[in-house]
Amino acid sequence: AKPTPGPRLSNPDKLLWPADKITKQQLADYYAAVAPKLLAYAGGRPVSLIRAPDGIDGPRFFQRHAGRGTSSLLREVTVAGEKDPYLALDDAAGLAALAQAAVLEIHPWGATAADVEHPDRLVFDLDPGEGTSFGDVIAAARDFRKHLEQLGLGAFVKTTGGKGLHVVVPLTPGAAWPEAKAFCKALCDVMREAKPDRYTTTLAKKARPRKIFLDYLRNDRSATAVAAWSPRARPGATVSMPVGWKELGPKLDPQAFTIATALNRLKRADPWDGYAEAARPLPDLGKA
Ligand code: ATP
Ligand code: MN
Repeated sequence: AKPTPGPRLSNPDKLLWPADKITKQQLADYYAAVAPKLLAYAGGRPVSLIRAPDGIDGPRFFQRHAGRGTSSLLREVTVAGEKDPYLALDDAAGLAALAQAAVLEIHPWGATAADVEHPDRLVFDLDPGEGTSFGDVIAAARDFRKHLEQLGLGAFVKTTGGKGLHVVVPLTPGAAWPEAKAFCKALCDVMREAKPDRYTTTLAKKARPRKIFLDYLRNDRSATAVAAWSPRARPGATVSMPVGWKELGPKLDPQAFTIATALNRLKRADPWDGYAEAARPLPDLGKA
């Protein structure tokens, strides 16, 4: 096995996903194996972290800022006008430090630490309401792709490790957050107006039965969405997995992508090849 960089792991046999028998050592091994993918997606940007030192059935700590005890293997990101530095992950040693701290989920911003005010990524979070199927979420993701491509934007899709999907759009940084957020709201409004029986853009749970909630609010300064390849602190030890548009169909089971199975995907062609090259500037709002 490859030597794991970073700190020595304490309590390697600690069960972090008890029902799935996944230990802290397995989390560390997973992070080491997927480091290139996870760092390509979440590295070099402010991240929020979910720690669960006693595993998914124990208490959780949501960490947005560097604090006492933060590993020196993570970078502190100081932002103009803010007192508390954020955290960024730069390398495999940083990931090893996350395993040591029992960080089960990694949630990056849609902007880099070098330029926090200008997004280089948009994420549309599609949440299935009660009475909708995963097939309905797939249809919504395809609908997003069609609209985004009409606007000249790239569209990539990943499972969340939960019930929905995330449609991810690489951007050439330029527009600031308020403009990006307005664009995302406008696009989701256009989609809802076209299919009001299928979509809602209202956060309230009661507005959601039998509809897919189109959440554009991930697209704001300091807002996050879970990283591609991040595990989830949920039963099953699922991970958020990039998938190809052609893979997205009735046979795709998002629960099948787990810490235990994800490594098989590393051997195959990456469905997100061409992600960086697909980045374009935010188009004019009027064209949404
Ligand atoms: P699912 O497919 O089950 O919806 P998800 O990761 O999309 O999985 P959501 O609850 O829809 O989960 O949340 C979307 C994203 O918003 C999360 O990935 C997370 O980054 C962010 N988020 C959710 N809840 C909070 C919260 N309370 N505080 C900060 N960020 C949050
Ligand atoms: Mn969601």
